[in-house]
Amino acid sequence: MIDTSARVAVIGGGIAGASVAFGLASRDVSVTVFDDAMAGQATAASAGIIAPWVSTSTGAYYETYAAGGSFYPDFLKRLSDLGIPELGYRRSGALVVNQNPDALAEAARLIRERAAAAGPVAGEVHDMDAANLTEIFPPIAPDMTGLFITGGGRVDGRTLRDAILTGGKAHGARLVNDSARIISNSTSGTATWTVGTTSAMEDFDVVVVAGGARSAEVLERLGHTAAITAQRGQLIHLGLHGTNTSPWPTVHPLDHHYITPFDGGRVVVGATREDGVGFDVRTTAAGQRQVLDDALRIAPGLAEATVLETRVGVRPMSARASGLPYAGAVPGTSGLWLASGFGAGGLTMGPLIGDGLARAILGQAAPEIAHLAL
Ligand SMILES: Cc1cc2nc3c(=O)[nH]c(=O)nc-3n(C[C@H](O)[C@H](O)[C@H](O)COP(=O)(O)OP(=O)(O)OC[C@H]3O[C@@H](n4cnc5c(N)ncnc54)[C@H](O)[C@@H]3O)c2cc1C
Repeated sequence: MIDTSARVAVIGGGIAGASVAFGLASRDVSVTVFDDAMAGQATAASAGIIAPWVSTSTGAYYETYAAGGSFYPDFLKRLSDLGIPELGYRRSGALVVNQNPDALAEAARLIRERAAAAGPVAGEVHDMDAANLTEIFPPIAPDMTGLFITGGGRVDGRTLRDAILTGGKAHGARLVNDSARIISNSTSGTATWTVGTTSAMEDFDVVVVAGGARSAEVLERLGHTAAITAQRGQLIHLGLHGTNTSPWPTVHPLDHHYITPFDGGRVVVGATREDGVGFDVRTTAAGQRQVLDDALRIAPGLAEATVLETRVGVRPMSARASGLPYAGAVPGTSGLWLASGFGAGGLTMGPLIGDGLARAILGQAAPEIAHLAL
């Protein structure tokens, strides 16, 4: 527990670190965010789907994921109230599709239950026949039936990350674009911390490790272990010149892949889930083939789109059986906290968990993250 005179360092400026920093700075705490813009930052590569109700996740992970989705409107309002003009978010709906009406009907039962439990944030749920589908998502295969959830959203991870950091700066937070090394200075049982960069050393009372998939490595240097592993995700950005893709919904075929349309004719298809390749952020032939095959199977109308770019991100995966992230104090230390292991749903959960962790660091109640303690 700290008071507002404490100096806090946040290591990592992805959605996790940016959200913790914003939560602290907006409560008048002095915060410095260190970020070295690693190739493969998950937040920058993310597909940006904010529609937990249509996900295949279950149990405690789903509950946290859904809570993250419910927190979004309030969080976005906090940022827009600061006058930040562009948050990169649009509530354009989520479309669940499948060729098999029985499989869709089964999924629809659960999605309707989840949407009802979530309330207005999830919006309405509508059955869609082939004609309806073509109207709201023209590239779709002709033999699909679907379900449309009006509250589904999509967000550009880079724009939102920058908006959160801008919000933090508006409350006095500092951003240092450099790699950070943490040094523990234990004196008479009280730990304080020094953070070193290539050009300076600075003392802090509290350090929050939010280094994405590199969090385990950062903690290991301090003698602590965290079961967070790296999972590569490749996704492809397609361009449909002259097409207004802004109102198109995200598309979910009851499988591991998806489609996220953005403004300006940009349609993102993905993504691979590759374990065991560490921080190898190359674009691979097999990854490209998988992503394009999956996308064109459900949306053959994308076949003539231009391939604009491939983004590769490294998801920080939690090794817990539940898949739940870690957010809490590192046991056996004073003033060392962790926010990581957000997996495939971090863009959705990050703002909620970041805000909860900021309150926990200040000694305030944060029941929404109590189950994420290390
Ligand atoms: C392909 C892909 C698609 C995804 N799609 C979705 C989606 O549709 N919806 C959703 O909710 N989630 C999605 N996710 C998951 C989500 O993007 C991640 O869970 C989330 O972005 C993780 O955020 P983070 O801040 O923990 O890590 P990151 O975004 O990786 O940020 C960590 C940052 O820490 C910095 N760092 C690390 N160590 C140091 C150090 N020592 N010094 C300074 N800086 C350091 C790195 O440079 C990096 O910038 C997707 C992820 C991927 C890869």
